[in-house]
Amino acid sequence: MSQVELTKIKGIPAAPGLAHGKTALVSEIEMEIPNYEIREFEDEIQRMMDAVEKGQGELIEIKKEVESRSEKNEAEIFEAHRMILEDVALIDRAKKAIKQGTNAEKAWMDAIEFFANMMEQIPDETLASRALDIRDVGRRVLGHMLGVSAGRTALTEPSIIVGDDLTPSDTVSLDKDLVLGFITARGGPTSHAAILAKAFGLPAVVGLGEAVLELPDGTMVLVNGDKGEVVVDPDDDQKNAFIEQEKKASVDRKKARAAAQAPGVTADGDRVEIVANIGGVDDAPLGIKNGAEGVGLFRTEFLYLDRKSLPTEAEQVEAYVAVFENYPNMPVVVRTLDIGGDKTIPYLDLPKELNPFLGWRGVRMLNGAEDIFKAQFRALLQAGGITGVDLRIMVPMVSGIEEIRSAKELMKGMKAELQSEGKPFAEKVQFGIMIEVPSAALLADKLAKEVDFFSIGTNDLTQYTLAVDRTNSKVAHLANPLNPAVLRLIKNTIDCAHAENRWVGLCGELAGEPLAAPILLGLGLDEFSMSPARVPVIKQVMRKLHKKECAEFVQKVLDKTNHEEVIEESTAFLKELGIEL
Ligand code: PEP
Ligand code: MG
Repeated sequence: MSQVELTKIKGIPAAPGLAHGKTALVSEIEMEIPNYEIREFEDEIQRMMDAVEKGQGELIEIKKEVESRSEKNEAEIFEAHRMILEDVALIDRAKKAIKQGTNAEKAWMDAIEFFANMMEQIPDETLASRALDIRDVGRRVLGHMLGVSAGRTALTEPSIIVGDDLTPSDTVSLDKDLVLGFITARGGPTSHAAILAKAFGLPAVVGLGEAVLELPDGTMVLVNGDKGEVVVDPDDDQKNAFIEQEKKASVDRKKARAAAQAPGVTADGDRVEIVANIGGVDDAPLGIKNGAEGVGLFRTEFLYLDRKSLPTEAEQVEAYVAVFENYPNMPVVVRTLDIGGDKTIPYLDLPKELNPFLGWRGVRMLNGAEDIFKAQFRALLQAGGITGVDLRIMVPMVSGIEEIRSAKELMKGMKAELQSEGKPFAEKVQFGIMIEVPSAALLADKLAKEVDFFSIGTNDLTQYTLAVDRTNSKVAHLANPLNPAVLRLIKNTIDCAHAENRWVGLCGELAGEPLAAPILLGLGLDEFSMSPARVPVIKQVMRKLHKKECAEFVQKVLDKTNHEEVIEESTAFLKELGIEL
């Protein structure tokens, strides 16, 4: 690496925001694993179990601390770590090795490596990243056995942390008052460290390549977590301009937060529905807290994960009621279970597929796993009845009309069942589908006749339109929902739905992207659903947009050739309105 080349490095944006400061490379403290034969099996097992217990205690403390500083669901990462320490297969494997004469440290770390390797073999980045979690937990316990701290270099001054791929433990164990941001050589935007950085409001850029590890400690860097860029050794002009930008961003953020509870309106005073994407009981209150006026996507997978068997109907009713109660008299769009693809549920023992994103996923599972959906529809309908929420149910991964008909038939059947059992349920429920497969977007004129609404899932629509696996960081640069090909599909979907008097929402990440706001408003989108943290800023952008101007602007954008040109146009359009990104 020549340092001269290294003035600007491009990585993957992982947590938004700007920060400047001197780098500090954090590296793992070396811990040698002793290797010797032992005879007192029981004592050795006890020694290992004591360390496991200490590790658990520590993780409970960290979880509490993260909970007090951020939102609950981030803290769950440490609950997941603690659960690794309860894994019977892991503990048994280590105990077995001890009984064969291996010392506790070696037996433990061999078992950790065995399971970490197993995870790494799975051709799925989300699961493969679990290997990092397992090793992280492994080192924590090893540290207790050796009587040393498994943490990283301690910080002495405010710094931009440089690392290979930070573990969640690193991210929380560093002194937050001294951390200005993170830049890493590896890692993806959905890694746990990225999620934590977001929760703490610290900018992060990941996947910058090995070169960042060679930056001498104390190198001045400018980190742009929005763009995924790092400027190394800036000159005074660059640095001063960046500091100005940082100050402005901080003022804008404060203003947006202060105005978050005001209703969503455009510059003309027209209402625009800005709602939240949520994942479960824990994060349901976040939408309201950030000013969302309902839920546009409730990903129900949470209820099925991190457990050993399917949730019962009663358990589901209880969880849905708990979520719905946060949104009295507001619309709540619930998506039925969307597993397959990159989401697996271990206890269902789903068959391995060569192309899981093109396989037995989402609504396609109706054909073969119908009972799971029957229970879910029954639970949702009952929870809707109990709470009186404005319930809307949608199914994911629809590629054709037959799937819609089967799902509707199933919902009708479950209503009839509940009726005959004399159980109260929500009778008026809107039924919709996600538009996330190009065939559905192209057939939107036909599909619109069958449903009450559409919700466009641009995360998947982008992956399927551009043939880019959304979990593969090597092709991540190609997957941009602002590609005109994706925008044309969005336009067709909205136009066809409106021709049939149906409303259309959008719940992919694109809805929370300020650059997309004038485009989506111009295309006539009815509902914008996004991660709760994005609600204040999008409301702020909407207040400056005139619908008619946006509609004219969109024509220009649809005529572009690639996402870079669209980004350029939209940046200029927003700048004219005084919105600098
Ligand atoms: C989408 O595909 O855009 C979407 C919102 O669903 P998910 O990200 O859960 O697949
Ligand atoms: Mg999707």
